[in-house]
Amino acid sequence: MATLVPLARPSLTALEESAVLTVLRSGRLSMGEQLTQFEHSFRTYLGLPQAVAVSSGTAGLHLVVRGLGLAPGDEVITTPFSFIASASCLLFEGVKPVFVDAEPQTGNIDPRLIPAAITPRTKAVLAVHVFGCPADMAAVRKVADKHHLFVIEDACEALGAAACGQAAGTLGDAGVFAFYPNKQITTGEGGMIVTRRTELADFCRAARNQGRTPGCAWLEHHILGYNYRLDELSAALGCVQMSRLPDILAKRAEAAARYESLLAGTPEVSLPGAAPYAQPSWFVYVLRFGSRYWRDTVGAALTRQGIECKPYFPSIHLQPLFAQRFGYTPGAYPRSERLSDTSLAVPFFTDITAAEQELVAQAISTAIKEGRGAA
Ligand SMILES: *Cc1c(COP(=O)(O)O)cnc(C)c1O
Repeated sequence: MATLVPLARPSLTALEESAVLTVLRSGRLSMGEQLTQFEHSFRTYLGLPQAVAVSSGTAGLHLVVRGLGLAPGDEVITTPFSFIASASCLLFEGVKPVFVDAEPQTGNIDPRLIPAAITPRTKAVLAVHVFGCPADMAAVRKVADKHHLFVIEDACEALGAAACGQAAGTLGDAGVFAFYPNKQITTGEGGMIVTRRTELADFCRAARNQGRTPGCAWLEHHILGYNYRLDELSAALGCVQMSRLPDILAKRAEAAARYESLLAGTPEVSLPGAAPYAQPSWFVYVLRFGSRYWRDTVGAALTRQGIECKPYFPSIHLQPLFAQRFGYTPGAYPRSERLSDTSLAVPFFTDITAAEQELVAQAISTAIKEGRGAA
């Protein structure tokens, strides 16, 4: 079946095309003006002193983990209900992820479970703003401060979101955004580290660039570094996308509201909603069903009709890598597992049309009617 409605699609205009073409024609394809501009746009948008662009969100998380000095033997408390990168970035440095279960409503880390997971080896809490709905950062911060832990924000899904009026990404010691094509803004591949910590930013700037410290000779390497640079074509895309951000966020909010009115009143489906303190920035639109049966029934029906959908997220602790390495078995984090079993992301992107959303909603209600007949 050909794809009728994709799960995600980037929003690109003539502005992006011309910006990329200009870079292409300039001959300067790495480490130029676009990178500087893109970083500047983040500092301005978030009101933070430091922004370091990198080649992906995962690269950004890795540099933050390393830059905060986390090392083998250390533990970091994080959530099993997330995309794999928020935990694998710890494994890169031999740091042990210690999971605490998710809040059943938001899918975000449950701050009330953090204290019991703290040991003398705990160095940080890594919170993820799942699906663009901010975690309870005030509560996370409170526990972290009490125990002198760093707070790392995986804001890869949350550009434009806020908690208690403060922008996601600015609420911890460092925040990381990502620009894969399904995110709110895209650079193709790309990421951004934001922080108030000058030393951390300096480390990230050197470590993304083969360990070159600013001002040193090109072939002089002071620390172990990587090639995590963001190229100019990507950065140019990012500059244009940032200039369009208010419009992009407004359209996504509108699309979320439209799904809400189309799908309200279907008892088998519960709709995503942010916590009272949170202003979400919709990354994906994830429906929740009363049981795995309903999720799978609706998922299969949509797929048959060419409407893309995905079970977001499978719990990280049950991914083969983590299950094998740490010995997790089903039941270890029941709330996360329940979310994994009952959630379905449906098509959602900036330029989704009302007609496409109506098609999706229609297919969902038809699948449910048929499912009721069969059950
Ligand atoms: C997208 C994403 C990342 C990683 O981003 P990449 O740019 O694909 O490396 C990390 N964490 C979360 C929660 C994400 O959704």
